[in-house]
Amino acid sequence: MESSRRKFIRNAALAGIAGTGIRSSQVLGATPQPKSDFADLDKLLAEPVLDMSPFTRPIVVKSIELLRFGDNFLCRVRSTDGAEGVSVSNNLVMTHLYPIFTRRVQPFFIGKDLRDWENLLEEVYVYESNYKMQNLAFWVPLATLEFAVLDLMGKMVNRSIGQLLGEIHHPRIAVYQANNYRGKSAEESIDLIEKHVNETQAKALKFKVGGRMSHNRDFPPGRTEKLIPLVRERFGEDMVIYADSNGSYTTDEAIRIGKLMEEYRYDFYEEPVPFDWYPETLEVAQALIIPIAGGEQEPSMRNFRWLIGHRALQIVQPDIFYFGGMIRSMKVARMAAARGMECTPHISGSGLGYLYMMHFVSAVPNAGPYHEFKGFNKEIPLTCATSSLSSENGVVQVPSGPGLGVEIDPAYIQKHILVNA
Ligand SMILES: [Mg+2]
Repeated sequence: MESSRRKFIRNAALAGIAGTGIRSSQVLGATPQPKSDFADLDKLLAEPVLDMSPFTRPIVVKSIELLRFGDNFLCRVRSTDGAEGVSVSNNLVMTHLYPIFTRRVQPFFIGKDLRDWENLLEEVYVYESNYKMQNLAFWVPLATLEFAVLDLMGKMVNRSIGQLLGEIHHPRIAVYQANNYRGKSAEESIDLIEKHVNETQAKALKFKVGGRMSHNRDFPPGRTEKLIPLVRERFGEDMVIYADSNGSYTTDEAIRIGKLMEEYRYDFYEEPVPFDWYPETLEVAQALIIPIAGGEQEPSMRNFRWLIGHRALQIVQPDIFYFGGMIRSMKVARMAAARGMECTPHISGSGLGYLYMMHFVSAVPNAGPYHEFKGFNKEIPLTCATSSLSSENGVVQVPSGPGLGVEIDPAYIQKHILVNA
């Protein structure tokens, strides 16, 4: 750890040599850096996630349709043998991204064998220079397709999506109640958080601190320092408490606020500095004892490798939509497991995100003890034979039927029209 910090300081000093006539590449070339050993992580990254052994014949993609009704997007995939899978997209962002789906993702997969899915993920990233769009703009459309593909494959062999990903480690998932009352005073926030937690009987909660990507401005001023002690006082010692700054702070302020969380025995501290401040995230992690959580905005596997390899994070939070699906997210979870870290995936509120997240978590051996809960979507009419899809005493049962494990009302699907963009 200390050597990483020294290296960072030395590189910063080298950056100050402009005007000396020495090219920085020459200087850097003359001072070889000790290489960190990430060989174990690279080995994990090369291992497949899906067990394709039950699929003895090619699963050739006949059609991929993007369907829309209002702001709801469905993806339907059909194979030449008549198998079918459906997914619901992350609608909040798909309303802006659907041309990327229809032009840059959909055409690549027609006629391909889905048993080759993990290689196809690598190829579509390069297809039409898609890597230039590496962020949720590319990954959400691809994840939308992947979830329909997993639904299709699960239905073919009578396995849930979780079972396709591996052994089921968590058939039931304990939830933490996520709260967002940023903008309200500490006094008002604490009452609202309590009301929200009572509704789900969650044994863990998360709330927002700082002003969100605000360079240390609180919202309203003074809220965070009042609220941190107040939440512990109100909920007592048994409550598991997480706080999320959404990249509110610079390094020094992030450390100062983190020490306050430590004083009140908080359980993790999410995105203390902006997500792409990688060396600064490491600096905060080294200065604090409280585990640092992050990764919901991270689009790059290579950057997750860096964050995990250097222990800049202690809890990884890939978003299964924003990061391009469950296969990629499982690789992040595996790297984290290799370094003794937990995975607590992030999920945004729209569509059936919570359902995909639950299937993913069910198959993650190193899943954290509590998972994000933002309420269930009641707008998409569906039935589920294997779960009430509600939080009972803070726990939700993961559906165990084939594929996604729910039946979306066919009449509702019929209302959607084909998107041609
Ligand atoms: Mg967050």
